[in-house]
Amino acid sequence: MTIKTDALIVGAGPCGLFQVFELGLLGIKADILDSLPNSGGQCTELYPDKPIYDIPAVPVCTGQELIDALHVQIEPFGARFHMSEEVTVVEQLDDGFHVATDNGTEFHAKTVFVAGGVGSFQPRKLRLPEAEQLEGTGVHYKVRDPARFQDRNVVILGGGDSALDWALALWEGASSLTLVHRRDEYRGAPATVAALKELEAGSKLRMMECAKATALGLDGDRLATVDIQITDSDPETLPVDDLLVFFGLAPKLGPIADWGLEISKKAIEVDTATFQSSTPGIFAIGDICTYPGKKKLILSGFHEAALAAFAAKALIEPGKKVNLQYTTTSPIMKKRLGVEED
Ligand SMILES: Cc1cc2nc3c(=O)[nH]c(=O)nc-3n(C[C@H](O)[C@H](O)[C@H](O)COP(=O)(O)OP(=O)(O)OC[C@H]3O[C@@H](n4cnc5c(N)ncnc54)[C@H](O)[C@@H]3O)c2cc1C
Repeated sequence: MTIKTDALIVGAGPCGLFQVFELGLLGIKADILDSLPNSGGQCTELYPDKPIYDIPAVPVCTGQELIDALHVQIEPFGARFHMSEEVTVVEQLDDGFHVATDNGTEFHAKTVFVAGGVGSFQPRKLRLPEAEQLEGTGVHYKVRDPARFQDRNVVILGGGDSALDWALALWEGASSLTLVHRRDEYRGAPATVAALKELEAGSKLRMMECAKATALGLDGDRLATVDIQITDSDPETLPVDDLLVFFGLAPKLGPIADWGLEISKKAIEVDTATFQSSTPGIFAIGDICTYPGKKKLILSGFHEAALAAFAAKALIEPGKKVNLQYTTTSPIMKKRLGVEED
Protein backbone atom coordinates (compact mmCIF):
# COMPACT_ATOMS: atom_id res chain seq x y z
CA MET A 1 0.00 0.00 0.00
CA THR A 2 1.34 3.43 -0.93
CA ILE A 3 1.14 6.09 1.77
CA LYS A 4 -0.05 9.43 0.39
CA THR A 5 1.28 12.60 1.97
CA ASP A 6 1.62 16.30 1.25
CA ALA A 7 5.09 16.49 2.79
CA LEU A 8 7.61 13.72 3.42
CA ILE A 9 10.59 14.60 5.60
CA VAL A 10 13.66 12.39 5.19
CA GLY A 11 15.64 12.53 8.44
CA ALA A 12 14.37 13.01 11.99
CA GLY A 13 17.31 15.00 13.34
CA PRO A 14 16.69 18.41 14.97
CA CYS A 15 16.08 20.12 11.61
CA GLY A 16 13.72 17.43 10.27
CA LEU A 17 11.74 17.63 13.53
CA PHE A 18 11.52 21.43 13.32
CA GLN A 19 10.38 21.09 9.70
CA VAL A 20 7.30 19.28 11.06
CA PHE A 21 6.61 22.38 13.18
CA GLU A 22 7.00 24.94 10.41
CA LEU A 23 4.82 22.91 8.03
CA GLY A 24 2.26 22.36 10.79
CA LEU A 25 1.92 26.08 11.44
CA LEU A 26 0.99 26.48 7.77
CA GLY A 27 -1.58 23.69 8.01
CA ILE A 28 0.49 20.96 6.30
CA LYS A 29 0.62 17.56 7.96
CA ALA A 30 3.90 15.73 7.44
CA ASP A 31 5.23 12.19 7.41
CA ILE A 32 8.78 11.87 8.72
CA LEU A 33 11.17 8.95 8.52
CA ASP A 34 14.63 8.00 9.65
CA SER A 35 16.93 5.05 9.07
CA LEU A 36 17.59 4.93 12.82
CA PRO A 37 15.12 3.52 15.37
CA ASN A 38 15.19 6.78 17.39
CA SER A 39 14.83 10.41 16.35
CA GLY A 40 17.42 13.10 17.09
CA GLY A 41 20.14 12.56 14.46
CA GLN A 42 23.59 13.68 15.58
CA CYS A 43 22.19 15.17 18.84
CA THR A 44 21.10 11.81 20.21
CA GLU A 45 23.47 9.55 18.28
CA LEU A 46 26.71 11.45 18.93
CA TYR A 47 26.26 13.73 21.95
CA PRO A 48 23.04 13.03 23.92
CA ASP A 49 24.53 14.13 27.28
CA LYS A 50 26.70 17.02 26.09
CA PRO A 51 25.48 20.59 26.66
CA ILE A 52 24.53 22.85 23.72
CA TYR A 53 24.81 26.59 24.42
CA ASP A 54 23.75 28.22 21.15
CA ILE A 55 20.05 27.49 20.74
CA PRO A 56 18.31 30.90 20.84
CA ALA A 57 16.62 31.59 24.19
CA VAL A 58 17.74 28.24 25.62
CA PRO A 59 20.93 29.07 27.58
CA VAL A 60 21.85 25.40 27.89
CA CYS A 61 20.37 21.99 27.12
CA THR A 62 21.80 18.59 26.28
CA GLY A 63 21.42 16.97 22.86
CA GLN A 64 18.71 14.67 24.20
CA GLU A 65 16.89 17.51 25.98
CA LEU A 66 16.76 19.51 22.75
CA ILE A 67 15.20 16.57 20.91
CA ASP A 68 12.73 15.91 23.73
CA ALA A 69 11.68 19.60 23.67
CA LEU A 70 11.25 19.52 19.88
CA HIS A 71 8.95 16.51 20.26
CA VAL A 72 6.80 18.44 22.73
CA GLN A 73 6.72 21.42 20.36
CA ILE A 74 5.64 19.41 17.29
CA GLU A 75 3.17 17.21 19.16
CA PRO A 76 0.06 19.26 18.11
CA PHE A 77 0.73 18.58 14.44
CA GLY A 78 0.38 14.78 14.63
CA ALA A 79 3.16 13.92 12.19
CA ARG A 80 3.36 10.25 11.30
CA PHE A 81 6.75 8.79 12.22
CA HIS A 82 8.29 5.93 10.24
CA MET A 83 11.45 4.81 12.03
CA SER A 84 14.14 2.28 10.99
CA GLU A 85 13.31 3.06 7.36
CA GLU A 86 16.10 4.22 5.10
CA VAL A 87 14.93 6.08 2.01
CA THR A 88 16.64 4.48 -0.94
CA VAL A 89 14.59 5.71 -3.92
CA VAL A 90 13.17 9.14 -4.80
CA GLU A 91 11.65 9.37 -8.29
CA GLN A 92 9.76 12.23 -9.88
CA LEU A 93 6.16 11.63 -11.00
CA ASP A 94 3.81 13.98 -12.83
CA ASP A 95 2.13 14.91 -9.55
CA GLY A 96 4.87 14.58 -6.95
CA PHE A 97 7.37 11.91 -5.97
CA HIS A 98 7.54 8.17 -5.49
CA VAL A 99 9.65 7.43 -2.43
CA ALA A 100 10.64 3.93 -1.32
CA THR A 101 12.56 2.62 1.70
CA ASP A 102 14.83 -0.36 2.30
CA ASN A 103 11.91 -2.08 4.10
CA GLY A 104 9.67 -1.77 1.05
CA THR A 105 7.48 1.04 2.43
CA GLU A 106 6.28 3.30 -0.39
CA PHE A 107 5.06 6.88 -0.39
CA HIS A 108 3.45 9.20 -2.88
CA ALA A 109 4.55 12.64 -1.67
CA LYS A 110 3.63 16.03 -3.09
CA THR A 111 6.82 17.51 -1.66
CA VAL A 112 9.98 15.98 -0.15
CA PHE A 113 12.20 17.59 2.48
CA VAL A 114 15.67 16.11 2.71
CA ALA A 115 16.93 16.70 6.25
CA GLY A 116 19.49 13.92 6.08
CA GLY A 117 22.30 15.68 7.98
CA VAL A 118 25.65 14.12 7.24
CA GLY A 119 23.88 11.16 5.69
CA SER A 120 22.29 8.06 7.08
CA PHE A 121 24.09 6.34 9.89
CA GLN A 122 25.39 3.02 8.59
CA PRO A 123 26.88 0.22 10.69
CA ARG A 124 30.68 -0.03 10.65
CA LYS A 125 31.44 -3.28 8.85
CA LEU A 126 33.52 -6.30 9.87
CA ARG A 127 36.64 -6.23 7.74
CA LEU A 128 37.21 -9.93 7.04
CA PRO A 129 37.28 -11.32 3.49
CA GLU A 130 34.10 -13.46 3.68
CA ALA A 131 32.05 -10.99 5.75
CA GLU A 132 30.45 -9.22 2.79
CA GLN A 133 29.19 -12.38 1.05
CA LEU A 134 27.73 -13.65 4.37
CA GLU A 135 25.88 -10.40 5.14
CA GLY A 136 22.23 -11.16 5.88
CA THR A 137 22.76 -14.94 6.16
CA GLY A 138 25.51 -15.47 8.77
CA VAL A 139 26.79 -11.94 9.43
CA HIS A 140 24.31 -9.36 10.73
CA TYR A 141 24.56 -5.67 11.60
CA LYS A 142 21.09 -5.32 13.10
CA VAL A 143 18.48 -7.56 14.66
CA ARG A 144 15.18 -7.50 12.80
CA ASP A 145 13.67 -10.64 14.31
CA PRO A 146 15.09 -11.90 17.63
CA ALA A 147 13.31 -15.28 17.14
CA ARG A 148 15.73 -16.05 14.33
CA PHE A 149 18.52 -16.61 16.89
CA GLN A 150 16.59 -19.23 18.87
CA ASP A 151 18.60 -22.49 19.26
CA ARG A 152 21.55 -21.10 17.28
CA ASN A 153 25.22 -20.62 18.14
CA VAL A 154 25.52 -16.86 18.31
CA VAL A 155 28.67 -14.75 18.55
CA ILE A 156 28.34 -11.01 19.19
CA LEU A 157 31.23 -8.64 18.43
CA GLY A 158 31.32 -5.27 20.23
CA GLY A 159 31.35 -3.63 23.65
CA GLY A 160 28.76 -0.85 23.40
CA ASP A 161 25.10 -0.76 24.41
CA SER A 162 23.83 -2.58 21.31
CA ALA A 163 26.21 -5.52 21.79
CA LEU A 164 25.50 -5.77 25.52
CA ASP A 165 21.72 -5.34 25.24
CA TRP A 166 21.41 -7.98 22.52
CA ALA A 167 23.67 -10.38 24.46
CA LEU A 168 21.31 -10.01 27.41
CA ALA A 169 18.21 -10.39 25.25
CA LEU A 170 19.35 -13.37 23.18
CA TRP A 171 21.53 -15.60 25.41
CA GLU A 172 18.64 -17.54 26.94
CA GLY A 173 17.07 -18.65 23.66
CA ALA A 174 20.37 -19.29 21.88
CA SER A 175 22.21 -22.67 21.95
CA SER A 176 25.30 -20.72 22.96
CA LEU A 177 26.19 -17.05 23.02
CA THR A 178 29.69 -15.57 23.10
CA LEU A 179 30.28 -11.84 23.51
CA VAL A 180 33.64 -10.77 22.10
CA HIS A 181 35.06 -7.33 22.94
CA ARG A 182 38.45 -5.93 21.94
CA ARG A 183 39.01 -4.22 25.32
CA ASP A 184 38.47 -5.26 28.94
CA GLU A 185 36.33 -2.17 29.62
CA TYR A 186 32.91 -1.82 28.05
CA ARG A 187 31.39 1.35 26.56
CA GLY A 188 27.85 0.24 27.43
CA ALA A 189 25.82 0.63 30.62
CA PRO A 190 27.70 -0.75 33.68
CA ALA A 191 24.49 -2.36 34.98
CA THR A 192 24.18 -4.46 31.81
CA VAL A 193 27.83 -5.51 32.05
CA ALA A 194 27.28 -6.55 35.67
CA ALA A 195 24.14 -8.52 34.74
CA LEU A 196 26.00 -10.36 31.97
CA LYS A 197 29.00 -11.16 34.21
CA GLU A 198 26.65 -12.64 36.77
CA LEU A 199 24.93 -14.80 34.15
CA GLU A 200 28.26 -15.91 32.69
CA ALA A 201 29.25 -17.96 35.73
CA GLY A 202 28.17 -21.49 34.88
CA SER A 203 25.90 -20.76 31.89
CA LYS A 204 26.02 -21.02 28.10
CA LEU A 205 26.90 -17.32 27.99
CA ARG A 206 30.60 -16.55 27.58
CA MET A 207 32.42 -13.21 27.54
CA MET A 208 35.80 -12.91 25.79
CA GLU A 209 37.70 -9.69 26.48
CA CYS A 210 40.77 -8.14 24.79
CA ALA A 211 39.71 -10.34 21.90
CA LYS A 212 38.93 -9.96 18.20
CA ALA A 213 37.61 -12.03 15.29
CA THR A 214 40.46 -12.89 12.94
CA ALA A 215 38.89 -15.33 10.43
CA LEU A 216 35.57 -16.78 9.31
CA GLY A 217 35.17 -20.42 8.28
CA LEU A 218 32.53 -21.60 5.79
CA ASP A 219 30.71 -24.87 5.30
CA GLY A 220 29.70 -24.59 1.65
CA ASP A 221 28.29 -21.07 1.46
CA ARG A 222 27.15 -21.09 5.10
CA LEU A 223 29.00 -19.50 8.04
CA ALA A 224 30.32 -22.32 10.26
CA THR A 225 33.18 -21.01 12.45
CA VAL A 226 34.82 -17.85 13.67
CA ASP A 227 38.39 -17.60 14.95
CA ILE A 228 38.74 -15.45 18.06
CA GLN A 229 42.14 -14.30 19.20
CA ILE A 230 42.74 -13.04 22.72
CA THR A 231 45.64 -10.52 22.60
CA ASP A 232 48.68 -12.43 21.27
CA SER A 233 47.59 -15.98 22.06
CA ASP A 234 46.65 -18.56 19.41
CA PRO A 235 43.18 -18.06 17.94
CA GLU A 236 40.36 -20.27 19.24
CA THR A 237 37.89 -21.59 16.66
CA LEU A 238 34.25 -21.31 17.77
CA PRO A 239 31.27 -22.89 16.03
CA VAL A 240 28.87 -20.14 14.93
CA ASP A 241 25.59 -19.92 13.04
CA ASP A 242 25.08 -16.18 13.41
CA LEU A 243 27.66 -13.48 13.95
CA LEU A 244 26.24 -10.17 15.15
CA VAL A 245 28.54 -7.20 14.64
CA PHE A 246 27.98 -4.00 16.63
CA PHE A 247 30.99 -1.76 15.93
CA GLY A 248 28.96 1.48 16.04
CA LEU A 249 27.56 3.70 13.31
CA ALA A 250 29.20 6.06 10.85
CA PRO A 251 27.29 8.58 8.69
CA LYS A 252 27.35 8.11 4.91
CA LEU A 253 25.65 10.23 2.26
CA GLY A 254 24.46 6.88 0.88
CA PRO A 255 21.40 6.79 -1.36
CA ILE A 256 20.85 10.60 -1.24
CA ALA A 257 23.64 10.89 -3.81
CA ASP A 258 21.54 8.89 -6.33
CA TRP A 259 18.41 11.05 -6.45
CA GLY A 260 19.58 13.22 -9.34
CA LEU A 261 20.01 16.35 -7.22
CA GLU A 262 22.85 18.85 -7.72
CA ILE A 263 25.44 17.90 -5.11
CA SER A 264 28.62 19.68 -4.21
CA LYS A 265 31.02 18.67 -1.44
CA LYS A 266 28.64 15.89 -0.34
CA ALA A 267 25.78 18.36 0.21
CA ILE A 268 22.66 19.33 -1.77
CA GLU A 269 22.77 22.71 -3.47
CA VAL A 270 19.77 24.90 -2.65
CA ASP A 271 18.27 28.26 -3.51
CA THR A 272 18.39 30.31 -0.31
CA ALA A 273 15.01 31.97 -0.91
CA THR A 274 13.15 28.64 -0.85
CA PHE A 275 15.64 25.94 0.16
CA GLN A 276 14.53 24.09 -2.91
CA SER A 277 17.06 21.77 -4.57
CA SER A 278 17.72 21.55 -8.31
CA THR A 279 14.50 19.45 -8.52
CA PRO A 280 11.39 21.59 -7.86
CA GLY A 281 9.40 20.07 -5.01
CA ILE A 282 12.45 18.59 -3.29
CA PHE A 283 13.76 20.81 -0.50
CA ALA A 284 16.95 20.35 1.51
CA ILE A 285 17.57 21.79 4.97
CA GLY A 286 20.04 21.39 7.83
CA ASP A 287 23.53 19.96 7.47
CA ILE A 288 22.70 18.25 4.15
CA CYS A 289 22.22 21.52 2.23
CA THR A 290 24.84 23.88 0.95
CA TYR A 291 24.87 27.48 -0.30
CA PRO A 292 27.33 30.37 -0.08
CA GLY A 293 27.98 31.05 3.59
CA LYS A 294 26.27 27.90 4.88
CA LYS A 295 27.10 27.08 8.51
CA LYS A 296 26.30 23.63 9.83
CA LEU A 297 24.51 24.81 12.95
CA ILE A 298 21.16 23.78 14.36
CA LEU A 299 19.86 27.36 14.36
CA SER A 300 20.67 27.71 10.64
CA GLY A 301 18.63 24.57 9.98
CA PHE A 302 15.66 26.01 11.89
CA HIS A 303 15.65 29.13 9.68
CA GLU A 304 15.96 26.97 6.56
CA ALA A 305 12.97 24.89 7.67
CA ALA A 306 10.81 28.02 7.99
CA LEU A 307 11.52 29.28 4.47
CA ALA A 308 11.20 25.80 2.94
CA ALA A 309 7.74 25.44 4.53
CA PHE A 310 6.51 28.69 2.97
CA ALA A 311 7.82 27.65 -0.45
CA ALA A 312 6.23 24.19 -0.15
CA LYS A 313 2.85 25.64 0.87
CA ALA A 314 2.78 27.56 -2.41
CA LEU A 315 3.41 24.29 -4.31
CA ILE A 316 0.94 22.16 -2.34
CA GLU A 317 -1.86 24.73 -2.58
CA PRO A 318 -1.10 26.62 -5.79
CA GLY A 319 -2.86 29.93 -6.31
CA LYS A 320 -3.50 30.40 -2.58
CA LYS A 321 -1.81 33.42 -1.03
CA VAL A 322 0.59 32.51 1.79
CA ASN A 323 0.58 35.30 4.33
CA LEU A 324 3.09 35.73 7.11
CA GLN A 325 1.27 35.34 10.41
CA TYR A 326 2.45 35.53 14.01
CA THR A 327 1.76 32.69 16.44
CA THR A 328 1.15 35.40 19.04
CA THR A 329 -1.86 36.82 17.23
CA SER A 330 -3.04 34.42 14.50
CA PRO A 331 -6.28 32.62 15.44
CA ILE A 332 -5.74 29.92 12.79
CA MET A 333 -2.19 29.21 13.99
CA LYS A 334 -3.40 29.02 17.58
CA LYS A 335 -6.07 26.57 16.46
CA ARG A 336 -3.44 24.45 14.70
CA LEU A 337 -1.26 24.60 17.82
CA GLY A 338 -4.23 23.53 19.93
CA VAL A 339 -3.89 26.52 22.27
CA GLU A 340 -6.70 28.66 23.63
CA GLU A 341 -7.53 31.97 22.03
CA ASP A 342 -6.95 34.91 24.40
C1 LIG B 1 29.87 16.47 18.89
C2 LIG B 1 28.99 17.48 18.19
C3 LIG B 1 28.59 18.60 18.87
C4 LIG B 1 27.77 19.56 18.24
N1 LIG B 1 27.40 20.69 18.93
C5 LIG B 1 26.61 21.60 18.33
C6 LIG B 1 26.23 22.81 19.02
O1 LIG B 1 26.64 23.06 20.15
N2 LIG B 1 25.43 23.69 18.34
C7 LIG B 1 24.98 23.49 17.06
O2 LIG B 1 24.25 24.30 16.52
N3 LIG B 1 25.35 22.36 16.40
C8 LIG B 1 26.14 21.43 16.98
N4 LIG B 1 26.54 20.31 16.28
C9 LIG B 1 26.06 20.15 14.91
C10 LIG B 1 24.59 19.69 14.90
O3 LIG B 1 24.44 18.49 15.64
C11 LIG B 1 24.11 19.51 13.47
O4 LIG B 1 24.20 20.75 12.81
C12 LIG B 1 22.66 19.03 13.47
O5 LIG B 1 22.53 17.76 14.08
C13 LIG B 1 22.14 18.93 12.03
O6 LIG B 1 20.82 18.50 12.11
P1 LIG B 1 20.13 17.78 10.87
O7 LIG B 1 18.71 17.52 11.31
O8 LIG B 1 20.37 18.56 9.65
O9 LIG B 1 20.92 16.41 10.66
P2 LIG B 1 21.29 15.18 11.62
O10 LIG B 1 21.28 15.56 13.04
O11 LIG B 1 22.54 14.62 11.06
O12 LIG B 1 20.09 14.16 11.36
C14 LIG B 1 19.92 13.60 10.07
C15 LIG B 1 19.08 12.35 10.18
O13 LIG B 1 18.76 11.91 8.86
C16 LIG B 1 18.78 10.51 8.80
N5 LIG B 1 18.97 10.10 7.40
C17 LIG B 1 19.97 10.44 6.56
N6 LIG B 1 19.79 9.87 5.35
C18 LIG B 1 18.65 9.15 5.44
C19 LIG B 1 17.93 8.32 4.52
N7 LIG B 1 18.35 8.11 3.26
N8 LIG B 1 16.80 7.71 4.96
C20 LIG B 1 16.35 7.89 6.23
N9 LIG B 1 17.00 8.67 7.15
C21 LIG B 1 18.12 9.29 6.74
C22 LIG B 1 19.95 10.15 9.72
O14 LIG B 1 19.83 8.81 10.21
C23 LIG B 1 19.82 11.19 10.85
O15 LIG B 1 19.07 10.71 11.94
C24 LIG B 1 27.35 19.36 16.90
C25 LIG B 1 27.74 18.20 16.22
C26 LIG B 1 28.55 17.27 16.84
C27 LIG B 1 28.97 16.03 16.08
